[in-house]
Amino acid sequence: MPKCQNCGTTWTWVQCVCRLVTLGDSLTCPSCMQDQFLTVKARKKTSLFVFIAPLLMFISVAFGIEPFASLALFLATFLVVLGIFPFLIELTDERGPMW
Ligand SMILES: [Zn+2]
Repeated sequence: MPKCQNCGTTWTWVQCVCRLVTLGDSLTCPSCMQDQFLTVKARKKTSLFVFIAPLLMFISVAFGIEPFASLALFLATFLVVLGIFPFLIELTDERGPMW
């Protein structure tokens, strides 16, 4: 789980998910209210999730999966990604380069 680089507080899973659904590139620490940013390494790891949606579409079309089953597959995958996402992120208190 990510740890605030300003106050050292380890964020809970719920705090991570709540912070991740906000817009913008900064995540506000729930303890000290300072902006935190994803490290370059964490951004690279989590950017791989972008390829999941096209992959699922390809699998649905290639194997002729029914629309409702495809939707269920998307939802299940979304929940799994949401579940593991907080374990993959690392925080820094400095806004770094995009890559
Ligand atoms: Zn903090």
